[in-house]
Amino acid sequence: MVTIEEALKIITGQQVARKTEFRNLSECLGFSLSEDIIALFDMPSFDNSAMDGYALCGLSKEYIIVGEVAAGDESRHTLNEGEAVRIFTGAKIPENTTAVMMQEKTRVTGSKLFLDQEPKKGQSIRKKGEELKKDQIVFEKGYTITPAGIGMLGSLGIDKIEVFKKPLINLITTGNELVMPGKQKKEGQIYESNSFALAAACEKYGFHSKEKKQIEDDFKAIKAGIKESLENADVLVLSGGISVGDYDFVKQALEENGVEEQFYKVFQKPGKPLYFGRKGEKFIFALPGNPASSLSCFYIYVLPLLYKLSGSLKTGLDQYTFAASLEFENRSDRPSFLKARIDNNEVEILDGQGSSMIQSMALGNALAFLDAETSVKKGDEVKCYLIS
Ligand code: AMP
Ligand code: MG
Repeated sequence: MVTIEEALKIITGQQVARKTEFRNLSECLGFSLSEDIIALFDMPSFDNSAMDGYALCGLSKEYIIVGEVAAGDESRHTLNEGEAVRIFTGAKIPENTTAVMMQEKTRVTGSKLFLDQEPKKGQSIRKKGEELKKDQIVFEKGYTITPAGIGMLGSLGIDKIEVFKKPLINLITTGNELVMPGKQKKEGQIYESNSFALAAACEKYGFHSKEKKQIEDDFKAIKAGIKESLENADVLVLSGGISVGDYDFVKQALEENGVEEQFYKVFQKPGKPLYFGRKGEKFIFALPGNPASSLSCFYIYVLPLLYKLSGSLKTGLDQYTFAASLEFENRSDRPSFLKARIDNNEVEILDGQGSSMIQSMALGNALAFLDAETSVKKGDEVKCYLIS
């Protein structure tokens, strides 16, 4: 049995070999850069207008309009003192421009331009290189590409980006009692829901589970299923059959497949019978079968490994501290991840903390962490892991 900290250290301390690939700009959301991105030119690459208005030469309240530049024009104008050109947002500033005046603060009579007030030198001009200078680092290796990141890369003219490949994930659920949703279930049976929740959790954090198998509590079948699923996966996530019951065959089946245990059992609630192993470059998690335990273990333990394998700088769920909105007593003798809901900057630890209870998790948006046998009073600070 290891502590939560030890388990996380074992996961994040794994040596991993990452592969890279080139992806199109439109297909790299959520991937992490395998190299720094350097600006190939100044941004903006030319002085341009921040407004629809007039580019002015000299500081005055009266000008003669001598031409026009629209966005995209090459703008070969060179202005003399007292001259102005009509200009539009993003258009290249003519030579000798002192300032740009927005059109709302001007009047035009024939070719004469009158301003309500004198301009200030440099006003409404976006200067060459004011956002980025050529050769500057724009994003460092490990940056995980966001929608704005895609916008930035596109505005640098980059259409193919070298990123770390994401791990391929396979899922296996075990249990004689499990029936697929949509089918008839008999007395004593329950619906298999973990694979759906785990696949969805992968998707939510930008990962994709490829294949899933549902296997009966049969040692040979589990052993064969693990062998097959390991062949084409970087990460295999199992649920169920990892506890101490007579029908819990997963641990032995992993051992007989040459998987090396990294840890088994974590001093925590829920999710005590959590297993983590590796075989060469492949990683294996066996999560407890109870729906809330398996998902909680995914969030706390599987996600950090997925981030690490995908080259992300992220190490897990976002963590914040919130004041408790109600009092709560953690009677467990183990540190606990509790289903909770953050609202209006306060956290409420919810009813329905049973390991099998998933509704409270679905209605919540966080896992609140409390040490063993501790109670919180209203207003006490509680560490929370955001899950939505
Ligand atoms: P186990 O870890 O196999 O002992 O299972 C613990 C509990 O979780 C039992 O009540 C199982 O019926 C339930 N369970 C196991 N696997 C699943 C699953 N895939 N979907 C829903 N419940 C499950
Ligand atoms: Mg079972």
